[in-house]
Amino acid sequence: MDLLNTLLDKGLRRELPTREEALAVLATSDDDLLDVVAAAGKVRRHWFGRRVKLNYLVNLKSGLCPEDCSYCSQRLGSTAGILKYTWLKPDEASKAAAAGLAGGAKRVCLVASGRGPTDRDVDRVSDTIKAIKDQNEGVEVCACLGLLSEGQAERLREAGADAYNHNLNTSEATYGDITTTHTYADRVDTVNKAHAAGLSACSGLIAGMGESDEDLVDVVFSLRDLDPDSVPVNFLIPFEGTPLAKEWHLTPQRCLRILAMVRFVCPDVEVRIAGGREVHLRTMQPLALHLANSIFLGDYLTSEGQAGKADLDMIADAGFEIEGTDEVTLPEHRAGGGCGSESSCGSEGVCGSAPAVQTEPGEARTDLVAVRRRGAGTDLAPNA
Ligand code: SF4
Repeated sequence: MDLLNTLLDKGLRRELPTREEALAVLATSDDDLLDVVAAAGKVRRHWFGRRVKLNYLVNLKSGLCPEDCSYCSQRLGSTAGILKYTWLKPDEASKAAAAGLAGGAKRVCLVASGRGPTDRDVDRVSDTIKAIKDQNEGVEVCACLGLLSEGQAERLREAGADAYNHNLNTSEATYGDITTTHTYADRVDTVNKAHAAGLSACSGLIAGMGESDEDLVDVVFSLRDLDPDSVPVNFLIPFEGTPLAKEWHLTPQRCLRILAMVRFVCPDVEVRIAGGREVHLRTMQPLALHLANSIFLGDYLTSEGQAGKADLDMIADAGFEIEGTDEVTLPEHRAGGGCGSESSCGSEGVCGSAPAVQTEPGEARTDLVAVRRRGAGTDLAPNA
């Protein structure tokens, strides 16, 4: 397929595909799916080998959010029945993180619900970062605390944070449909603040919210412009009790095409399969490892993932290796933090097939959605 040869060549050269080429990946048929995975898999292996980076989520503060992000089980008015608790103490968070690190994770992601941190919250998280770093040499810590005010990114960096996550989630054009309490521009601003403070920026998307193929390509191209080091790809978990509860659009094949498109657009960036992996990829998860070089180990913020042991077995059975703390995740030209890729954006090529709007029906697999009842904020052992 000419399209895939072109995208493979561009991926190896870190050259941006055209929008038409990215759309064409999403429009490929199931008959072509393995060819798409094979081509994007070559790009993945070129930049990341067969390494899989494991990340571990610690939900520092769950629920009780005043924002109205319609995909989120922690939103204002959510009746999703999730765990609700206020800030974990540094030793509690450190204990939860230790379980993930013992399970093979090299990055801990400290996440708190809310619009953004107060300065007092930044103090709390700084104490938590120190507690984790004191006990775990070489660990990477990423903070995800919402919109940042002036100076907060710098303070987190000084406290030892390596990275900051703030997702764009969807295209600028549709952002107002999913959230009204803050704007797309607010989100871009926070990613830029993280970059400017010398934090490794992590910013990604959520697929499956009813968006068009054009929206997906828009958000991935916007992410490429922002130049994060890692791009988490979430597949919407339509929680009962949230406005998007009935939005079951994804199939495993669709998820693989989305991951392949992200890999072609962001070839040398850590592409991470995030929430919804088990729910939407299901038995196709191992194939997705050929596209993404990073996953979360164990549970998510408010939902349960498959057993940590099953994650490890899956990686080994699929012929991949867990990335060690002594290995550098990013290719040499990006390593060292922050921005690294040369801008090759804007190349206007020619592409064959016309873009199609996604019409595949997804199956409502509510049986696979389990609210998290263990780990951080509970007395039960974490899943790692
Ligand atoms: S995504 Fe974050 S800001 Fe939005 S409702 Fe959920 S916790 Fe609040």
